[in-house]
Amino acid sequence: MEKIWIADGHCDSLGDLTDGKRDLKGKADFGHWDLQKAKVANIGMQFFSAYIESQYKPFLAMQRGLEQVEAARKFIDENRDDIFLISGLHDLNRLGNNGEMGIVLHVEGGEILAESLFMLDIIFRLGVRSIGLTWNERNAIADGVGELHSRGGLSRFGLDVISRMNELGMLVDVSHINEAGFWDVIRHSDKPVIATHSCAQALCNHPRNLNDQQLKALAEKKGLVGVNFCPDFLNETGQASMDDVIRHICYIAEIAGVDTVAFGSDFDGISSTPHGLEDVSKFIDLIEKLHQSGFSLMEIEKICHGNFVRVLKSVLK
Ligand SMILES: [Zn+2]
Repeated sequence: MEKIWIADGHCDSLGDLTDGKRDLKGKADFGHWDLQKAKVANIGMQFFSAYIESQYKPFLAMQRGLEQVEAARKFIDENRDDIFLISGLHDLNRLGNNGEMGIVLHVEGGEILAESLFMLDIIFRLGVRSIGLTWNERNAIADGVGELHSRGGLSRFGLDVISRMNELGMLVDVSHINEAGFWDVIRHSDKPVIATHSCAQALCNHPRNLNDQQLKALAEKKGLVGVNFCPDFLNETGQASMDDVIRHICYIAEIAGVDTVAFGSDFDGISSTPHGLEDVSKFIDLIEKLHQSGFSLMEIEKICHGNFVRVLKSVLK
């Protein structure tokens, strides 16, 4: 049987690339994600996240974000035989062909905008097509899940950011936002909303996970959830295996429909991995497990890439 190609909604490997720790071509003996390992698993689309670490916030956040965006652009240019930037609808035709990999450039942290709407247009021009509005802290757009007592939703600036993202054709990612902000995004966005790397709270009670109402709302919005491989989000013991990933996939499919489930590994952003999913090449074994779990081929194709392609089709221009 032909290997099904995989879309992964989140990895944080750009940090190592930007800091010169690895070239992401497979020569280093550490790290979860590189081109060689991704090819083994037939990764056909990868979200590359420019994660703005807390020590850069707020004053150097724009600089740090742009530094990573530039590193990603260089990486794509230097490896143009293997990978390409997804910047518009026309690029989607290339997905799943010839073993090429499409990259969605994502910024994890609205701090990159430095509270200026024009920065959104600038990073759009640089190729960014997806933004995680917050990380765990508060910023000018909204509050992250780490703000346990604020109950704050989207700011006025946050509402403007969503409207402009809808106009430009950018994906709005709610993975780290608090619940008040989540519902504001659902109400305010004209387009599907995604959680690039989250799991189900009913199976693992962690603030980063989504409750059943949130999962259903993403389904109604024709969005999706990329299941995160972080053991702390998968299992309350902090120890997880591939079976836990399957458990969350099955649960989200049951609650929100199979059209709402995808992958958001968080490789290179998580300090430990589930047993059996030590790096991106192990996606192969995960797909085998999906077959064994009773999903049909059509359902597996949706989970592996179809749902992400559907969302990109309805958001990108
Ligand atoms: Zn994250």
